[in-house]
Amino acid sequence: MRTDLSIKDYVREEKEALKKRVSTFEKAPKMAIVKVGHDVGSDSYVKGKVKDATEVGMLAEVHQYDETINQETLMEEVRRINEDPSVDGLIVQLPLPKHIKEAEVTALIDPHKDIDGFLPNSPFIPCTPRGIVDYLEAIGFVFQGRNALVIGRSGIVGKPLAKLLLSKDMNVTVTHSKTTHEDMDYYTRHADLIAVATGKAGLLDNSYHFKEDAVVVDVGISRGEDGHLHGDAVPGLPVALQTPVPGGVGLLTRLSLLKNVLEAYEYGLLHR
Ligand code: NAD
Repeated sequence: MRTDLSIKDYVREEKEALKKRVSTFEKAPKMAIVKVGHDVGSDSYVKGKVKDATEVGMLAEVHQYDETINQETLMEEVRRINEDPSVDGLIVQLPLPKHIKEAEVTALIDPHKDIDGFLPNSPFIPCTPRGIVDYLEAIGFVFQGRNALVIGRSGIVGKPLAKLLLSKDMNVTVTHSKTTHEDMDYYTRHADLIAVATGKAGLLDNSYHFKEDAVVVDVGISRGEDGHLHGDAVPGLPVALQTPVPGGVGLLTRLSLLKNVLEAYEYGLLHR
């Protein structure tokens, strides 16, 4: 396993390769981002998506709407953008304001444009799980027949990651907020791969036991009272590789989105 390939270097190399590929295309792949109101997290995520797209020669068009937009108008807008043949991928940036029924809006996205991979019939792998597995492949992690522990069962990270690891022939255990410490310790002791996605800073600490050749993928990111960003795992666990926070899974997620846009573009070339 190439533990010397840092996420930063891997992402830089992958983005350079993407940029080269995009430069051979007649037209730039385009993603549209629908955003309602202003939320500190969403504002910075969208800024990051636009920056990433620009860096590799893709287009990212942001459709910003006022917080007070009603359900019907927003749905009309999403329908219109979705039908635009120049749009390869479409993201509805979540969360939407409370008065909007999210599921009704996202259901309007053509699955072949659903680059977030959130719809049940989307052909795309959700960005965070995809980013994690692509990186593990790049460093030569062996999946088949080995034990994975996924901590957290959300619809955007835990569940799709567990499914993806199963498809890589791993033995997958999913734990969650109702799992006892004792049981979790049983699973950490046996895990070759631990992915922790809870949003609980420092949840995975030295009170658990680990295999010394284990890999810990830290998905969680939360801002502590000290104003700093923290992962779900305390730094320096006694394992072979632990991904950092910040500068870890977040970068992989952003890279995957670009790869999904490229795939949506290629699909569009054949079918639109
Ligand atoms: P979520 O709140 O939807 O789900 C959290 C999950 O953690 C739940 O399934 C819950 O059962 C589990 N959990 C909570 N407390 C637990 C405990 N004490 N022990 C075990 N499990 C526990 O969150 P999410 O959307 O899956 O996100 C999780 C974290 O990952 C957040 O910090 C989020 O910001 C981060 N995240 C990062 C990226 C990235 O690209 N870096 C992408 C998505 C999410």
